[in-house]
Amino acid sequence: MYFKERAHVKLHDAQLQYNLRKIKGKFVEKRKVALTELDDFEATREAARAIRQRALDDLDVWLSIFEENARARGATVLFAQTPAEINALVLEIARRHEVRKIIKSKSMVSEESALDHAIEAAGLTVVETDLGEYILQINNYEPPSHIIGPALHKSREEVAELFHKRHGKPKKEGIDELCLEARSELRTHYLTADMGISGGNFFVAETGSVVLVTNEGNATLTTTLPKVHVAISGIEKIVPTLEDVATLMRLLPRSATGQSISNYVDILTGVKGPGEFHGAEHMYFIVVDSGRTALLASDVKEALRCIRCGACMNHCPVYQNVGGHSYGWVYPGPIGAILTPMYVGLENALDLPHASTLCNQCGVVCPVKIPLPDLQRKLREKEFERHLRPWYERFGLKAWGWLAGHPAVYGIVTKVGIRALRLLADRNGMIRKLPLGGGWTDERDMPSPAGRTFRELYAERHRNRATPSMETSR
Ligand code: SF4
Repeated sequence: MYFKERAHVKLHDAQLQYNLRKIKGKFVEKRKVALTELDDFEATREAARAIRQRALDDLDVWLSIFEENARARGATVLFAQTPAEINALVLEIARRHEVRKIIKSKSMVSEESALDHAIEAAGLTVVETDLGEYILQINNYEPPSHIIGPALHKSREEVAELFHKRHGKPKKEGIDELCLEARSELRTHYLTADMGISGGNFFVAETGSVVLVTNEGNATLTTTLPKVHVAISGIEKIVPTLEDVATLMRLLPRSATGQSISNYVDILTGVKGPGEFHGAEHMYFIVVDSGRTALLASDVKEALRCIRCGACMNHCPVYQNVGGHSYGWVYPGPIGAILTPMYVGLENALDLPHASTLCNQCGVVCPVKIPLPDLQRKLREKEFERHLRPWYERFGLKAWGWLAGHPAVYGIVTKVGIRALRLLADRNGMIRKLPLGGGWTDERDMPSPAGRTFRELYAERHRNRATPSMETSR
């Protein structure tokens, strides 16, 4: 509910602004280079869109095929309707297998249900093993700010200080040293945990497998060392075949971090068989609805094609300036501005569909062609229809609609309007304070408009074209 307020605070947070400036463009350039490796990016992107859409169009069918194949390989498939059900299922599994310690690799869906808090409240130990998530966990469960780099908003110095405080070891300087320190802390937990929880980048229907895409190897250890593995992901993460996964994998790491392939890609199918060395003895899938069916039935359903690459936030000028925490829930950036209102209720996230300039950078880079600005516009329309916007905004939009439908009056009003605006400009041609539009000028100045309206300029150009100059006619 408080995107505007939070964004305002973040814009004045000097440390955060410094950190955001340092990571700006970090993945953008790498992505650009990585995409040149593909023969035809647009064709691959269209294929990826079609794969995701095909899965969503017959989601119930693919889910039952997945369930059947996963069960045939000895896994148990459970369905959670709500965030509370996710937590209840995990605790029930833990109880059944007498689990005391749980290790986790990154799972955004478990953030939706605040699973770590539920585990701790039940008296069990939980340790995040993704480096970013680990940093946030030991910093009193600070929320993640990016879907692929949860702690991207933190500087190296802040992490060094935190490790020094929490681990009680001499303060490290370099990133390698910090990584080694985290690694040595985590090793013991891998070896003593009874249960590993992972997310799932994809659930593959034809094989009943979960695919995990990581860079740190923590997911491999989390899912294969403990005796129990629980993979949690949304119903929309189903893909029909391994061939489909191969196509999506051509785009996912390239769009996310600009890598041709991520360091680790685990495809886990079923429980450890007789004579097999690796793998969990008990494997559970928790397939989560939690608002997804309703989203599938809505006119913004294309958002479910998302493969969580993070490219939309890496390219979003709003995200780059206000950071992920401003969005107030699990998913930040342009995709969060659609998912959050749909999962927590539009009336609980009124600002988010407006957290965008509609510049369409996100829509252009999305590897599965989600028309993000169009979807944000649809949510804005819904807010308007449901009278969720303030009266003056609705009145203003209605007045604008009427004006746009009466071209003659529109012409007069805009003519007068831009001339009045020019009177507000200072000597440098900048408007420092806009009456009734303070939001535009609170953080920056607005350039004074041109002397004539677009329609006047257009008409003049048209006239000049229609009347050949004396020189030409001679
Ligand atoms: S909406 Fe598209 S660009 Fe954004 S995270 Fe999802 S797949 Fe990536």
